[in-house]
Amino acid sequence: MQKDRRRRGRQHRQQRDLDITRLRMSLPSVVQKRGVEFQVQQSTGANAEEGKSWICPVCSIDIEPGVVHTVAWDLHRGVNTRRHFHNHCFKIFDGELF
Ligand SMILES: [Zn+2]
Repeated sequence: MQKDRRRRGRQHRQQRDLDITRLRMSLPSVVQKRGVEFQVQQSTGANAEEGKSWICPVCSIDIEPGVVHTVAWDLHRGVNTRRHFHNHCFKIFDGELF
C-alpha cells in the first residue's frame, strides 16, 4: 500500500517536470488577437545567421541576434506573414499589422 503510494507520487513529480520542460522549450502555440489567430513561437535568436537582426513591427527597434523574442505569423494566411517581435511588444500588439 505505502509502496504504491510512493511510486505514484514519483510519477506525478516526473509528469510535472515534463510540463516545466515543455514550458521552457516554449513549444509553438496559438494566440488570438482581435479574432486573428497567430501561430507563436519563442526564438532564442541563437541560430540566427551572423549579423542578422530583425526590426520589430511594433516599436521599429532592431532585435539583436541572441535576444529571446517572439516569432508570430497569421495562422490562416501562412508563414510568409511571419514577423519577429520583442516579447513585450507582442503582448501589446493588437493584430492590425498583418
Ligand atoms: Zn519591439
